[in-house]
Amino acid sequence: MTGSSGTPGDGDLVDDRYDRDGKLVVPDHVADAVRTLIEWAGDDPAREGLRDTPKRVARAWKEYCSGYADDPSVHLSRTFEEVGGYDEIVLLRDIPFQSHCEHHMAPITGKASIAYLPRDRVVGISKLARVLNGYARRLQVQERLTAEVARCIWDNLHPHGVAVVIDAQHGCMTGRGVRTPGVGMVTSRLLGCFLDDERSRKEVLSLMGY
Ligand SMILES: [Zn+2]
Repeated sequence: MTGSSGTPGDGDLVDDRYDRDGKLVVPDHVADAVRTLIEWAGDDPAREGLRDTPKRVARAWKEYCSGYADDPSVHLSRTFEEVGGYDEIVLLRDIPFQSHCEHHMAPITGKASIAYLPRDRVVGISKLARVLNGYARRLQVQERLTAEVARCIWDNLHPHGVAVVIDAQHGCMTGRGVRTPGVGMVTSRLLGCFLDDERSRKEVLSLMGY
């Protein structure tokens, strides 16, 4: 099948989303959009240093937004029910992540702490970070990201409680507008016992370092 056109429907196995070098094919209108943006910013998209930039930017955005192709709940489908009588908080602290704000498409850089109090099942600890990334790699607002991570764990693990705290800096605040580098925004979402029971809430927040 070498030399086949790779057009859809011709029956071969060529994945026409990728070029011969294995790079994602960027449609012309997408590259043109980036060229327009470069021009709008005040530079010349035809100058040498910028010539390949539209394709690079397009591929980078597919990566920044790879969460759209991800169903985060899948990461929580494999659980362990034999937890040896463990009935205390499970906490993954200070998980670094990057997202992009939906208002400016500027980077949101921060860390998340995710905790739950298992009812009868736990997941591999890395899965919590995968859930975070599944939602972070989209265009987001920090409040929604926090709520979506908490809701996903709540709906899929049915724990006694979930707590998610995100501390992040927004490129649209640090690099433009009021220009306030170093200012972090903190959002939290507490569900179940962490919402209803003050002692549980204090315990989980202090374990997280808040
Ligand atoms: Zn923004």
